[in-house]
Amino acid sequence: MDYAIRVSHYVDPVTFEVQRDVIVLISGAHVADVIVGGEVSGGLDGLAKQTLDFDNAVCMPGFVNAHCHLDLSHLHNQVPRGLTFPEWAPAVIAGRAMPQAMIEGGIDDACQMLVASGTTGVIDISVGGDSAKFMSKHGLRGIAALEVLGGGSPGSGSEKAMQRADEIVRSRFELDRNRLGEDAGDASAPTKPEGVDYGFSPHAPYSTGMELYQHAFGRAFGERRLCTTHVAESLEEVEFVSRGTGPLYDLLTTLGVDLSGFGGFGTSPIALLLGDWLGPWLGAENPSLVLVHCNYAQDGDLELLAATRPSVCWCPRSHAWFGHEPWPLAKMHEAGVNLVLGTDSLASNSGLDMLSELRLAAQHPDADIVELFKAATINGREAMGTIKDAADLAIWGLPNGDNVFEGMLKSEVPLYASFSRGQLIARAI
Ligand SMILES: [Zn+2]
Repeated sequence: MDYAIRVSHYVDPVTFEVQRDVIVLISGAHVADVIVGGEVSGGLDGLAKQTLDFDNAVCMPGFVNAHCHLDLSHLHNQVPRGLTFPEWAPAVIAGRAMPQAMIEGGIDDACQMLVASGTTGVIDISVGGDSAKFMSKHGLRGIAALEVLGGGSPGSGSEKAMQRADEIVRSRFELDRNRLGEDAGDASAPTKPEGVDYGFSPHAPYSTGMELYQHAFGRAFGERRLCTTHVAESLEEVEFVSRGTGPLYDLLTTLGVDLSGFGGFGTSPIALLLGDWLGPWLGAENPSLVLVHCNYAQDGDLELLAATRPSVCWCPRSHAWFGHEPWPLAKMHEAGVNLVLGTDSLASNSGLDMLSELRLAAQHPDADIVELFKAATINGREAMGTIKDAADLAIWGLPNGDNVFEGMLKSEVPLYASFSRGQLIARAI
């Protein structure tokens, strides 16, 4: 065994039940065994190469931040609050045109923020794949979902956008031998950053055409990769997608998108995606399809969500930043989607701390605290395709005598240590 960890409380990663007086044994990247209830004669010594012993502490699955844009981290505190989405977007597009060193510095700092706040897994939307090496460097388990957008008119930009994504894959990750076979060669192939893989992220149905969605999702589906997209984020998006009018029409025209003849799709953004565009690929459960926001899901959308059960990501603090209507938590629960939580980027959030997301989410009138903790941890693992016994763990100091989950929300709790893929990535005491 590599590690033996004694804690007073342990959250089972499958049942999510809290067990008392537990010794967790880690071997390689897995939790190899869990000894419940009381002492092992001789204590922890001899059980593993290294031991950690905590009295009032809970060991639980590490947080999975299911939506962020690490390559916007340099815009922390640079974008004013109170903008609508169509006002905010141009500021962020301008903010991308910064020196690469500044962008990479922001990503490096952001990964440190993630590790320091008990996050062990990240689904990152990445324009150039820059985050991969930093997630790996900080020991995080990550998916860099490569953003593709455009490809509006058939045959125009979608091939080019996927080729660009492929170039990033070739330069940042190992050549895909499964797909390319002998042609992949071996000499100068880059090695895959440890713990980090790539996925795809068609941007949003108002900015990305059907053909590109189908290319990106088809690739993800065929290669069992994660695919994530923004959808139904704002009322302006609902208006533009259904009728082709409003502030997003103006924004896209200003950005040079040719919308002549476009009069909307006559349907909601979620129905467009799940029904018309991706319908043929979808089964009864699709956790590796992560729909981000879904803030303005309409009634017909909920039936489609219930029929296809993707992961749906709520970003509580970013949601509040834009002043959206209350998030449709009860409806999503009823639809049976795999609820996950994310921070979104530091261009619309004050931090990347998942406990702060949980504290705000818990104020929602329909909140169930245990369900929210699942959303922030094991549901994210499900979306990422992480094995259930992964040694991706965070150990938190506990306030005395409290219920674990309520206690963690009520007062500041220290992160004692965390593990990702069985490696110790943070240790405070
Ligand atoms: Zn986003």
